[in-house]
Amino acid sequence: MQDCKRNLIGGEWVSPQTFSENRNPANPDEVIGLYARAEADDVARAVEAAKIAQPGWAAASPQLRSDVLRRAGDMLLARNDEMGRLLAREEGKTLAEATGEALRAAQLFHFFSGEAVRNPGEKLTSIRDGVEVDVMREPLGVVGLITPWNFPIAIPVWKTAPALAAGNAVVLKPADLTPGCAHLLAEILVEAGCPKGVFNLVMGSGSVIGKALVEHPDIAAISFTGSERVGRGIAMGCAQGLKKVQLEMGGKNPMVVLADADLDLAVNACLNGAFFSTGQRCTASSRLIVEDRIHDAFVDRMRQAMAGLRIGDPLDEAVQIGPVVSEGQLAGNLDYVRLAADEGCEVVGGERLNRAGYFQNPALFVGATNRMRSSREEIFGPCASVIRVADFDEALAVANDTSFGLSSGICTASLKHATAFRRKSKAGMVMVNLPTAGVDYHVPFGGRGASSLGGREQGRIAMDFYTAVKTAYVFAG
Ligand code: NAP
Ligand code: MG
Repeated sequence: MQDCKRNLIGGEWVSPQTFSENRNPANPDEVIGLYARAEADDVARAVEAAKIAQPGWAAASPQLRSDVLRRAGDMLLARNDEMGRLLAREEGKTLAEATGEALRAAQLFHFFSGEAVRNPGEKLTSIRDGVEVDVMREPLGVVGLITPWNFPIAIPVWKTAPALAAGNAVVLKPADLTPGCAHLLAEILVEAGCPKGVFNLVMGSGSVIGKALVEHPDIAAISFTGSERVGRGIAMGCAQGLKKVQLEMGGKNPMVVLADADLDLAVNACLNGAFFSTGQRCTASSRLIVEDRIHDAFVDRMRQAMAGLRIGDPLDEAVQIGPVVSEGQLAGNLDYVRLAADEGCEVVGGERLNRAGYFQNPALFVGATNRMRSSREEIFGPCASVIRVADFDEALAVANDTSFGLSSGICTASLKHATAFRRKSKAGMVMVNLPTAGVDYHVPFGGRGASSLGGREQGRIAMDFYTAVKTAYVFAG
């Protein structure tokens, strides 16, 4: 228990009753570290500490909040290599992807450092004589943040930074599989001068401490990223407690490839979107919707490209695709590979690699239809269905025929079709001649349908969720 990484509660690193081993999915014998497991009463203590600290943080000059966030961004930049290596070891992304994600986290801190001093209001004339109206935004209080394992530093930061910028106090519960990045984030926030109790970290099981956060009466809002199943439960818990809630959930994102597309560009966009980051991105392209005239040539090119992908240890710089995050996730992926074959698809690749670690060859489900379960349910692994369509109209209809609506894409040289797709796609983010995954940090991120609920994240719009509107009427006499 000596070297155990502890929870941060009220500015103190608190020794736990129990801890768990954080293991490397590329090499499950390697223990990265021992991490504390919080219990429900640790959550209660963290919320209490946050409740005490929050009014002072909200009342302080916005310059203080801006400075803390800027310093946190600077420190993340200075420790980019350390954070990237830790991320690659605990989650399995390649080192390039992991250091890229750590860089993104630093950029997010810097962006919201600016937002901390920009709290725009609105001043209007009233319809009543001599009265002025002004509309301002205030912090919510204590917010609970619940995050998934697949972006273990970027997502905690894209929630924490706007929450703190707006003057809230935070209790963060990171995914059980990836506590390391969140712990390093907590260390950085302490060093950056974040006052005691303003940022609290509770690591442990979602069903225990995630639930305790959602149910705590002093939590004003929950921002959650994760699966649709858990998201639905959290939404119900928040409705019960009348809490503000923001959910970012899954996807079954379509990538349309029209016959007039640049084939090199389309194959690269599909490979990247479907398989990079081991397909473990909510914005991954999992339905490749291909026009009949180009279908067979596209599948041939994908087969060739997939055969050349380098899968292996994420710390090896030549590697393009790392392991699946866990044994359980890999077993789920392999079940879907079998399901796709049972449903009548020709499966290209998809098998587990014969080596230690949770490695899987990327899988293409050729001959899929959009009605198959393998085309409708989120797999969250390196698996993509190829669906043949007659023309643009059918492609658009198939792309929109999903319960999700996070990201969508089209590869085409036609301005007419690109424009029609951009306008008619029922997704929160639309990509033209770009992979469905890969976004900027200064613009809204989010989706529709079963993908998202509540306000958007990232960009200036993120501040909406973390603030309450106050309308003031003043009669000057
Ligand atoms: P998950 O199983 O839903 O878990 C997400 C978080 O919720 C984890 O911290 C988890 O804790 C916690 N949790 C679990 N049960 C809970 C409960 N009953 N009450 C409160 N919290 C609970 O998702 P995941 O497997 O980590 O991540 C994969 C999912 O995230 C995919 O569906 C993916 O599409 C989605 N995702 C969405 C976005 C987006 O922005 N739209 C981005 C990335 C990922 P434990 O770790 O302890 O289980
Ligand atoms: Mg999970």
